[in-house]
Amino acid sequence: MAACIFCRIIAGQAPAKVYYRDEQVIAFQDIHPVAPVHILIVPIKHLESINAMTEEDKPLIGHLFWVARQLAAQQGIAQSGYRSIINTGPDSGQAVFHLHLHLIGGQRVRFPMG
Ligand code: 5GP
Ligand code: ZN
Repeated sequence: MAACIFCRIIAGQAPAKVYYRDEQVIAFQDIHPVAPVHILIVPIKHLESINAMTEEDKPLIGHLFWVARQLAAQQGIAQSGYRSIINTGPDSGQAVFHLHLHLIGGQRVRFPMG
């Protein structure tokens, strides 16, 4: 069994509310949402963070944002706006070391984040 919680969700070994999945990414509800819309867009491939990214991953990172954009439209927040965030390393507060893009919206998002 995978040790990484997001790898376990990808493998169907842990539950999540899944909004979207294709051969490269999965998108599911954040377990502690900070806004009405809080979806994590996660590569199927386990990459610890942007620091683990190689040149061959450039299209994958683009695809994360493409899926975020589609989900924002689907969730009705394309016009009201949203924040798309990737945390990297200790100073960012990264807590799960499997790369993910946060899609956050549906209310005015504070800055800096809590
Ligand atoms: P980070 O700080 O690493 O960018 O964000 C990790 C995010 O993953 C947090 O917003 C946290 O709520 C979410 N998270 C942590 N564990 C789980 C889990 O088991 N399931 C889901 N759906 N989200 C999780
Ligand atoms: Zn993983």
